[in-house]
Amino acid sequence: MSFEKVDKRDLYRCVSCGNCRSVCPAFEQTGRESKNTRGRILVIRDVYEGNLADESVFDSINTCTTCGYCAVSCPAGVHPPDLVEGARSGLVASGKMTPVQMKIRDTVAQYANTLGDSGPRLGWLEGSGLAVPENPKAVYFVGCLDTYRYPGTALHSYRILNKMGVGLLEDEKCCASPLLRLGFTNEADVLIKHNINQIKKSGADTIIAGCAGCFNTLKNNYGSDLDGISVVTVSEYLISHLDDLKKAGLSKLNLKITYHDPCHSGRHNDIYDEPRALIREIVGKDNFIEMATIREKSRCCGGGGGVRSGYNDLSLAMAKRRLEDVPAGIDYIVTTCPLCLRNLRDAGGDVPAIDLIELVSMAGNQDC
Ligand code: SF4
Ligand code: SF4
Repeated sequence: MSFEKVDKRDLYRCVSCGNCRSVCPAFEQTGRESKNTRGRILVIRDVYEGNLADESVFDSINTCTTCGYCAVSCPAGVHPPDLVEGARSGLVASGKMTPVQMKIRDTVAQYANTLGDSGPRLGWLEGSGLAVPENPKAVYFVGCLDTYRYPGTALHSYRILNKMGVGLLEDEKCCASPLLRLGFTNEADVLIKHNINQIKKSGADTIIAGCAGCFNTLKNNYGSDLDGISVVTVSEYLISHLDDLKKAGLSKLNLKITYHDPCHSGRHNDIYDEPRALIREIVGKDNFIEMATIREKSRCCGGGGGVRSGYNDLSLAMAKRRLEDVPAGIDYIVTTCPLCLRNLRDAGGDVPAIDLIELVSMAGNQDC
């Protein structure tokens, strides 16, 4: 197999030490060697060397959430999520994929979103009375999940950002993250080119992503076409405009809050401090209580990398395990990724999970 997108040096740099086994959330739930990082790398090598390319490899390669915990634990400097994505891409290029992968590819191709929703992309804005400024310096990239599943979050976000002069893209489409994570590189390029044209057309020099997955993809997969344009998370943008936010009204809330680090903004991009700073600004230092595992050692929610769609039971088991990290006496689990939110909510638990923007809205008495 050609495995064009697999870094072969990285593939053979792994010395099978097994350091990564103890941190892999999929292995934590399955206990299966083929479903931990080291085992996946051995499977990828086997496929690359032409020894194995049947359907048995899918359960190994496709149960990785691309959380990246293995990468920060690897003494040899291997970056396993890239190997996994490269292997998926190689398999897809040779026509090997699961029915779930095919369904996601076809849904995104037909609807330009992962949800198969044919509704208008700006449906959440209708009736809000909010204007979309022309020639804005910054635009809000909403993302498929907030657009179609959490329109309240999209509206809350834009209500706050719009006061700072932030605009929207005329015709945003899926950022292509699900396609890239599942190996559909060529299909992803079509969406990436479309969104790049939209971003250029807007004239903005800053893109504010409302979803950790979109943020990671815009920042790291859109290439040099976005040179000179900064891609930031909502929390980064709000912290850098804290005075404006306070002027608009930001009261203190007497709530006990914990924070779940989404892998794609945290481990993949080191965005740890800004969301925490915003939470502390609202609830105070003492009412912000960290989860049992945090920052680069944060446990994954289990939702990413196509695992939620392809292996739902495993995905929810990982989310349930993540909920065990929530400290006692907490009012809300706050996060900054709608996919994490969805998985943590679906896993049940007694503590409600909300997007950070909902906390900011509560503090600003935003009327939505
Ligand atoms: S920690 Fe690194 S070198 Fe060790 S088995 Fe995992 S990927 Fe290989
Ligand atoms: S990226 Fe996460 S799920 Fe994938 S192998 Fe590494 S630790 Fe396991």
